[in-house]
Amino acid sequence: MTPEIRDCPSPNHGARRGGVSVPDLIVLHYTAMTGGPEPAIKRLCDPATEVSCHYVVGERGDIARLVPDDRRAWHAGAGRWGESCDVNSRSLGIELSNDGASPFPGAQMDALEALLGDLMARHGIEAKGVIGHSDCAPGRKIDPGPRFDWQRLARQGLAVWPEVVEAPITGFHDDLRAFGMTAEVEDATRLAAFRLRFRPGLDGPLDRIDAGMARDLAARFPAS
Ligand SMILES: [Zn+2]
Repeated sequence: MTPEIRDCPSPNHGARRGGVSVPDLIVLHYTAMTGGPEPAIKRLCDPATEVSCHYVVGERGDIARLVPDDRRAWHAGAGRWGESCDVNSRSLGIELSNDGASPFPGAQMDALEALLGDLMARHGIEAKGVIGHSDCAPGRKIDPGPRFDWQRLARQGLAVWPEVVEAPITGFHDDLRAFGMTAEVEDATRLAAFRLRFRPGLDGPLDRIDAGMARDLAARFPAS
């Protein structure tokens, strides 16, 4: 079912580049602001900021549309996913109103799930195409952060989650690149970005479970 959405048009968008007509990625963010979604919407609609996204989801489950789906919004910045270094041209950006430290309320997650289901069906976006800002800009961005419940999305086919199995650690970084994490960063930065999403809170050196999970991601959900 299509969720209820109010329009708050932002002037901050352009044409999608590189021959992309339909997005195949959805990038999830948090706003890192307090006071609900309104201050973030104001900022994302201010031409002076030169930032925007397609949708903002508030803590109470309210959804605002800022940029039409067929336009290129300015949310991902410098980063890479798979073979693409222009993530904005191939993605939709969703900002979750969140200060970066608080849990995401149930009403907000329910609304996000309805929005994701609708967008994925409408544009033919696969579960593996739903990623975090930290996945495509490792080291530079950490949103949607360690409190975001990726497993909840994955249970409903709205994101992916790997099998927890073991593998030799030697394949870890190549497997993560095959999954899509192609940003040119130090190995430690790539490991940190992987754990932020898939093993939040874990410290210490790369282990066989990291490697097994990365192996499964690369095997079942390779990026294009
Ligand atoms: Zn972000």
